[in-house]
Amino acid sequence: TDNLGPEQNGRVTACYGSQVDVEPENDGSHESKRCHLRANLPSIVTGDNVIWQDGDPKGVVVAIKPRNSELCRPDNRGKLKPVAANIDRIVIVIAPLPEPHRNLIDRYLVACEHQQIAPVLVMNKSDLLDDNSRDRLMDMLSDYQALGYVCSQVSAHSGDGMGLLSDLLDRTTSVFVGQSGVGKSSLLNALSPGTNTAVGALSEAVTKGTHTTTKAQLFHLPGGGEVIDSPGIREFGLWHLNPEEVASGFIEFRPFLGHCKFRDCQHRGTEPGCAINEAIAEGHISTQRADSYRHILQSLESDH
Ligand code: GDP
Ligand code: ZN
Repeated sequence: TDNLGPEQNGRVTACYGSQVDVEPENDGSHESKRCHLRANLPSIVTGDNVIWQDGDPKGVVVAIKPRNSELCRPDNRGKLKPVAANIDRIVIVIAPLPEPHRNLIDRYLVACEHQQIAPVLVMNKSDLLDDNSRDRLMDMLSDYQALGYVCSQVSAHSGDGMGLLSDLLDRTTSVFVGQSGVGKSSLLNALSPGTNTAVGALSEAVTKGTHTTTKAQLFHLPGGGEVIDSPGIREFGLWHLNPEEVASGFIEFRPFLGHCKFRDCQHRGTEPGCAINEAIAEGHISTQRADSYRHILQSLESDH
Protein backbone atom coordinates (compact mmCIF):
# COMPACT_ATOMS: atom_id res chain seq x y z
CA THR A 1 0.00 0.00 0.00
CA ASP A 2 2.62 2.53 -1.04
CA ASN A 3 0.60 4.34 -3.66
CA LEU A 4 -2.13 5.87 -1.60
CA GLY A 5 -4.52 8.38 -3.09
CA PRO A 6 -5.27 11.80 -1.61
CA GLU A 7 -7.09 12.12 1.69
CA GLN A 8 -10.85 12.20 1.26
CA ASN A 9 -14.03 12.02 3.30
CA GLY A 10 -15.87 8.74 3.63
CA ARG A 11 -18.34 6.76 5.70
CA VAL A 12 -17.85 3.36 7.26
CA THR A 13 -20.43 0.86 5.97
CA ALA A 14 -19.21 -2.23 7.84
CA CYS A 15 -16.52 -3.26 10.32
CA TYR A 16 -14.50 -6.48 10.42
CA GLY A 17 -12.15 -6.44 13.37
CA SER A 18 -9.07 -4.60 12.17
CA GLN A 19 -10.53 -3.70 8.77
CA VAL A 20 -13.52 -1.67 7.64
CA ASP A 21 -15.45 -0.94 4.46
CA VAL A 22 -15.49 2.74 3.54
CA GLU A 23 -17.59 4.53 0.98
CA PRO A 24 -16.43 7.78 -0.60
CA GLU A 25 -18.63 10.70 0.39
CA ASN A 26 -21.05 12.10 -2.21
CA ASP A 27 -19.85 10.21 -5.26
CA GLY A 28 -23.19 8.43 -5.54
CA SER A 29 -21.64 5.11 -6.53
CA HIS A 30 -22.06 3.59 -3.07
CA GLU A 31 -19.12 1.36 -3.86
CA SER A 32 -17.20 0.60 -0.72
CA LYS A 33 -13.53 -0.13 -0.36
CA ARG A 34 -11.92 -2.41 2.21
CA CYS A 35 -9.50 -0.43 4.34
CA HIS A 36 -6.86 -0.97 6.99
CA LEU A 37 -6.80 1.29 9.99
CA ARG A 38 -3.87 3.54 10.70
CA ALA A 39 -2.26 2.67 14.04
CA ASN A 40 -3.62 4.27 17.23
CA LEU A 41 -7.02 5.21 15.85
CA PRO A 42 -9.82 5.25 18.42
CA SER A 43 -12.31 2.41 17.99
CA ILE A 44 -14.40 2.69 14.87
CA VAL A 45 -18.01 1.62 14.20
CA THR A 46 -20.42 1.42 11.28
CA GLY A 47 -21.71 4.87 10.39
CA ASP A 48 -18.51 6.65 11.39
CA ASN A 49 -17.43 9.53 9.18
CA VAL A 50 -13.74 9.17 8.41
CA ILE A 51 -10.85 10.57 6.44
CA TRP A 52 -9.27 7.87 4.30
CA GLN A 53 -6.96 7.27 1.37
CA ASP A 54 -7.69 4.88 -1.44
CA GLY A 55 -5.06 2.24 -2.21
CA ASP A 56 -4.44 -1.06 -3.93
CA PRO A 57 -5.58 -3.59 -2.89
CA LYS A 58 -6.75 -1.82 0.24
CA GLY A 59 -7.18 1.73 1.40
CA VAL A 60 -6.37 3.14 4.79
CA VAL A 61 -8.44 5.09 7.30
CA VAL A 62 -6.35 7.89 8.75
CA ALA A 63 -8.80 9.70 11.06
CA ILE A 64 -12.26 9.44 12.59
CA LYS A 65 -14.45 12.55 12.70
CA PRO A 66 -16.46 13.50 15.78
CA ARG A 67 -19.80 11.65 16.06
CA ASN A 68 -23.22 13.33 16.11
CA SER A 69 -24.67 10.37 17.93
CA GLU A 70 -23.82 6.88 19.09
CA LEU A 71 -26.03 3.85 19.48
CA CYS A 72 -24.68 1.83 22.39
CA ARG A 73 -25.11 -1.70 23.69
CA PRO A 74 -23.51 -3.46 26.62
CA ASP A 75 -20.56 -5.71 25.72
CA ASN A 76 -20.16 -9.10 27.40
CA ARG A 77 -18.80 -7.43 30.52
CA GLY A 78 -21.83 -5.17 30.72
CA LYS A 79 -19.97 -2.03 29.68
CA LEU A 80 -21.83 0.19 27.19
CA LYS A 81 -20.06 0.28 23.83
CA PRO A 82 -21.01 2.10 20.64
CA VAL A 83 -22.20 -0.25 17.87
CA ALA A 84 -23.15 2.40 15.32
CA ALA A 85 -22.55 6.12 14.89
CA ASN A 86 -24.18 9.18 13.35
CA ILE A 87 -27.73 7.87 13.51
CA ASP A 88 -30.45 10.50 13.10
CA ARG A 89 -33.55 8.43 13.80
CA ILE A 90 -34.66 5.33 15.59
CA VAL A 91 -37.75 3.89 13.92
CA ILE A 92 -39.72 2.05 16.58
CA VAL A 93 -41.91 -0.42 14.72
CA ILE A 94 -45.14 -1.66 16.26
CA ALA A 95 -48.08 -3.56 14.75
CA PRO A 96 -51.59 -4.69 15.67
CA LEU A 97 -50.01 -8.12 15.92
CA PRO A 98 -47.96 -8.89 18.01
CA GLU A 99 -50.05 -6.55 20.15
CA PRO A 100 -48.15 -3.44 21.22
CA HIS A 101 -47.86 -2.66 24.92
CA ARG A 102 -47.46 0.92 26.01
CA ASN A 103 -44.87 -0.14 28.53
CA LEU A 104 -42.67 -1.59 25.80
CA ILE A 105 -43.08 1.50 23.63
CA ASP A 106 -42.15 3.66 26.61
CA ARG A 107 -39.04 1.59 27.19
CA TYR A 108 -37.95 2.21 23.61
CA LEU A 109 -38.72 5.91 23.89
CA VAL A 110 -36.75 6.26 27.12
CA ALA A 111 -33.81 4.47 25.52
CA CYS A 112 -33.97 6.83 22.51
CA GLU A 113 -34.13 9.88 24.75
CA HIS A 114 -31.21 8.60 26.77
CA GLN A 115 -29.11 8.07 23.63
CA GLN A 116 -30.33 11.43 22.28
CA ILE A 117 -31.54 10.04 18.98
CA ALA A 118 -34.94 11.12 17.66
CA PRO A 119 -37.50 8.31 17.73
CA VAL A 120 -40.30 7.81 15.20
CA LEU A 121 -43.19 5.52 16.03
CA VAL A 122 -44.34 3.53 13.02
CA MET A 123 -47.34 1.23 13.19
CA ASN A 124 -47.00 -1.39 10.49
CA LYS A 125 -49.68 -3.84 9.25
CA SER A 126 -52.36 -1.15 9.02
CA ASP A 127 -54.15 -3.63 6.73
CA LEU A 128 -54.83 -5.76 9.82
CA LEU A 129 -56.71 -3.04 11.71
CA ASP A 130 -60.34 -3.97 12.32
CA ASP A 131 -63.19 -2.18 14.05
CA ASN A 132 -62.06 -3.71 17.27
CA SER A 133 -58.43 -2.65 17.25
CA ARG A 134 -58.55 0.55 15.17
CA ASP A 135 -59.86 2.93 17.84
CA ARG A 136 -57.67 1.54 20.57
CA LEU A 137 -54.47 1.71 18.54
CA MET A 138 -55.26 5.09 17.00
CA ASP A 139 -55.91 6.47 20.50
CA MET A 140 -52.59 5.10 21.59
CA LEU A 141 -50.72 6.65 18.65
CA SER A 142 -52.42 10.00 19.18
CA ASP A 143 -51.32 9.98 22.82
CA TYR A 144 -47.72 9.67 21.64
CA GLN A 145 -48.27 12.29 18.98
CA ALA A 146 -49.57 14.64 21.68
CA LEU A 147 -46.29 14.14 23.54
CA GLY A 148 -44.50 15.41 20.43
CA TYR A 149 -43.40 12.15 18.85
CA VAL A 150 -43.69 11.67 15.11
CA CYS A 151 -46.07 8.78 14.44
CA SER A 152 -47.19 7.14 11.24
CA GLN A 153 -49.09 4.08 10.13
CA VAL A 154 -48.03 1.95 7.22
CA SER A 155 -48.47 -1.43 5.66
CA ALA A 156 -45.49 -3.18 4.16
CA HIS A 157 -47.98 -5.50 2.46
CA SER A 158 -50.49 -3.06 0.96
CA GLY A 159 -48.05 -0.16 0.52
CA ASP A 160 -50.27 2.14 2.59
CA GLY A 161 -48.21 5.03 4.00
CA MET A 162 -44.93 3.76 2.56
CA GLY A 163 -44.34 6.91 0.50
CA LEU A 164 -44.56 9.07 3.60
CA LEU A 165 -42.25 6.75 5.50
CA SER A 166 -39.76 6.86 2.67
CA ASP A 167 -39.87 10.67 2.72
CA LEU A 168 -39.31 10.64 6.45
CA LEU A 169 -36.18 8.53 6.04
CA ASP A 170 -34.81 10.60 3.17
CA ARG A 171 -31.39 12.21 3.83
CA THR A 172 -31.14 10.63 7.28
CA THR A 173 -29.52 7.58 8.80
CA SER A 174 -31.99 5.36 10.61
CA VAL A 175 -32.15 2.14 12.53
CA PHE A 176 -35.26 -0.04 12.87
CA VAL A 177 -36.10 -1.53 16.25
CA GLY A 178 -39.11 -3.36 17.65
CA GLN A 179 -40.41 -6.74 18.75
CA SER A 180 -39.82 -9.72 16.56
CA GLY A 181 -42.68 -10.20 14.10
CA VAL A 182 -43.78 -6.56 13.78
CA GLY A 183 -42.43 -6.44 10.23
CA LYS A 184 -39.02 -4.75 10.32
CA SER A 185 -37.60 -6.94 7.56
CA SER A 186 -40.76 -6.55 5.51
CA LEU A 187 -40.60 -2.76 5.81
CA LEU A 188 -36.95 -2.67 4.80
CA ASN A 189 -37.73 -4.86 1.82
CA ALA A 190 -40.70 -2.74 0.83
CA LEU A 191 -38.62 0.45 1.11
CA SER A 192 -35.95 -1.11 -1.03
CA PRO A 193 -37.78 -2.80 -3.89
CA GLY A 194 -35.98 -5.19 -6.20
CA THR A 195 -34.50 -8.50 -5.29
CA ASN A 196 -30.83 -7.62 -5.36
CA THR A 197 -30.78 -4.71 -2.97
CA ALA A 198 -28.44 -4.92 -0.07
CA VAL A 199 -31.26 -4.42 2.40
CA GLY A 200 -33.18 -7.31 0.89
CA ALA A 201 -30.14 -9.52 1.12
CA LEU A 202 -29.53 -8.44 4.68
CA SER A 203 -33.06 -9.04 5.88
CA GLU A 204 -33.00 -12.42 4.25
CA ALA A 205 -29.75 -13.27 5.98
CA VAL A 206 -31.13 -11.99 9.28
CA THR A 207 -34.30 -14.05 9.01
CA LYS A 208 -32.30 -17.13 8.05
CA GLY A 209 -30.00 -16.62 10.99
CA THR A 210 -26.77 -16.76 9.03
CA HIS A 211 -23.51 -15.51 10.48
CA THR A 212 -22.75 -13.06 7.72
CA THR A 213 -24.59 -10.09 9.17
CA THR A 214 -24.08 -10.16 12.90
CA LYS A 215 -22.16 -6.88 12.52
CA ALA A 216 -23.90 -3.62 11.85
CA GLN A 217 -24.06 -2.77 8.18
CA LEU A 218 -25.04 0.44 6.40
CA PHE A 219 -27.37 0.34 3.40
CA HIS A 220 -28.79 2.91 1.04
CA LEU A 221 -32.48 3.21 0.37
CA PRO A 222 -33.50 4.20 -3.16
CA GLY A 223 -35.25 7.25 -1.69
CA GLY A 224 -31.89 8.59 -0.51
CA GLY A 225 -31.92 7.56 3.13
CA GLU A 226 -29.57 5.20 4.87
CA VAL A 227 -30.30 2.35 7.25
CA ILE A 228 -27.88 0.68 9.63
CA ASP A 229 -29.05 -2.77 10.58
CA SER A 230 -27.91 -5.80 12.53
CA PRO A 231 -29.60 -8.32 14.81
CA GLY A 232 -27.93 -6.62 17.79
CA ILE A 233 -29.31 -3.22 16.84
CA ARG A 234 -32.81 -4.64 16.47
CA GLU A 235 -32.58 -5.80 20.10
CA PHE A 236 -31.82 -2.26 21.19
CA GLY A 237 -33.12 -1.68 24.71
CA LEU A 238 -32.76 -0.09 28.09
CA TRP A 239 -29.55 -0.79 29.86
CA HIS A 240 -28.19 0.34 33.20
CA LEU A 241 -30.26 3.47 33.59
CA ASN A 242 -30.57 4.98 37.04
CA PRO A 243 -33.93 6.35 38.27
CA GLU A 244 -33.05 9.92 37.28
CA GLU A 245 -32.20 8.86 33.75
CA VAL A 246 -35.45 6.91 33.47
CA ALA A 247 -37.48 9.88 34.73
CA SER A 248 -35.86 12.32 32.31
CA GLY A 249 -36.52 9.85 29.48
CA PHE A 250 -40.22 10.60 29.99
CA ILE A 251 -40.18 13.92 28.18
CA GLU A 252 -43.35 15.31 29.75
CA PHE A 253 -41.85 14.76 33.24
CA ARG A 254 -39.01 17.17 32.54
CA PRO A 255 -40.69 20.46 33.49
CA PHE A 256 -41.52 18.99 36.93
CA LEU A 257 -38.22 17.31 37.71
CA GLY A 258 -36.26 19.15 40.36
CA HIS A 259 -39.44 20.49 42.00
CA CYS A 260 -40.13 17.60 44.38
CA LYS A 261 -39.87 18.19 48.12
CA PHE A 262 -37.02 15.70 48.44
CA ARG A 263 -34.07 15.97 46.13
CA ASP A 264 -33.73 12.20 45.85
CA CYS A 265 -37.45 11.69 45.16
CA GLN A 266 -38.03 8.75 42.82
CA HIS A 267 -41.66 9.67 42.09
CA ARG A 268 -43.04 6.26 43.04
CA GLY A 269 -46.38 7.69 44.10
CA THR A 270 -45.75 7.44 47.83
CA GLU A 271 -43.34 10.31 48.45
CA PRO A 272 -44.74 13.48 50.10
CA GLY A 273 -44.49 16.65 48.03
CA CYS A 274 -43.72 14.85 44.76
CA ALA A 275 -44.08 17.25 41.82
CA ILE A 276 -44.65 14.37 39.41
CA ASN A 277 -47.56 13.14 41.54
CA GLU A 278 -49.05 16.61 41.52
CA ALA A 279 -48.63 16.79 37.74
CA ILE A 280 -50.48 13.48 37.44
CA ALA A 281 -53.28 14.75 39.67
CA GLU A 282 -53.55 17.91 37.56
CA GLY A 283 -53.66 15.91 34.33
CA HIS A 284 -50.29 17.04 32.94
CA ILE A 285 -48.95 13.49 33.02
CA SER A 286 -51.08 10.47 32.11
CA THR A 287 -51.46 7.67 34.61
CA GLN A 288 -50.42 5.25 31.87
CA ARG A 289 -47.08 6.94 31.44
CA ALA A 290 -46.63 7.21 35.20
CA ASP A 291 -47.37 3.48 35.52
CA SER A 292 -44.84 2.74 32.79
CA TYR A 293 -42.23 4.80 34.58
CA ARG A 294 -42.77 2.87 37.81
CA HIS A 295 -42.71 -0.44 35.96
CA ILE A 296 -39.42 0.41 34.33
CA LEU A 297 -37.89 1.43 37.66
CA GLN A 298 -38.92 -1.88 39.20
CA SER A 299 -37.68 -3.93 36.28
CA LEU A 300 -34.29 -2.22 36.28
CA GLU A 301 -33.98 -2.90 40.01
CA SER A 302 -34.79 -6.58 39.62
CA ASP A 303 -32.10 -6.83 36.90
CA HIS A 304 -29.40 -6.20 39.49
P1 GDP B 1 -39.55 -8.73 11.89
O1 GDP B 1 -39.34 -9.89 12.81
O2 GDP B 1 -39.90 -7.50 12.66
O3 GDP B 1 -38.44 -8.50 10.92
O4 GDP B 1 -40.88 -9.08 11.04
P2 GDP B 1 -41.03 -9.69 9.56
O5 GDP B 1 -40.72 -8.66 8.53
O6 GDP B 1 -40.27 -10.97 9.51
O7 GDP B 1 -42.60 -9.94 9.50
C1 GDP B 1 -43.26 -10.83 10.42
C2 GDP B 1 -44.55 -11.32 9.78
O8 GDP B 1 -45.45 -10.21 9.60
C3 GDP B 1 -44.35 -11.93 8.41
O9 GDP B 1 -45.18 -13.06 8.32
C4 GDP B 1 -44.78 -10.85 7.46
O10 GDP B 1 -45.27 -11.37 6.24
C5 GDP B 1 -45.88 -10.17 8.25
N1 GDP B 1 -46.05 -8.76 7.84
C6 GDP B 1 -45.09 -7.83 7.70
N2 GDP B 1 -45.61 -6.66 7.30
C7 GDP B 1 -46.96 -6.84 7.20
C8 GDP B 1 -48.04 -5.99 6.83
O11 GDP B 1 -47.92 -4.82 6.49
N3 GDP B 1 -49.29 -6.56 6.87
C9 GDP B 1 -49.50 -7.86 7.23
N4 GDP B 1 -50.76 -8.30 7.22
N5 GDP B 1 -48.48 -8.68 7.57
C10 GDP B 1 -47.23 -8.18 7.56
ZN1 ZN C 1 -41.08 13.21 42.89
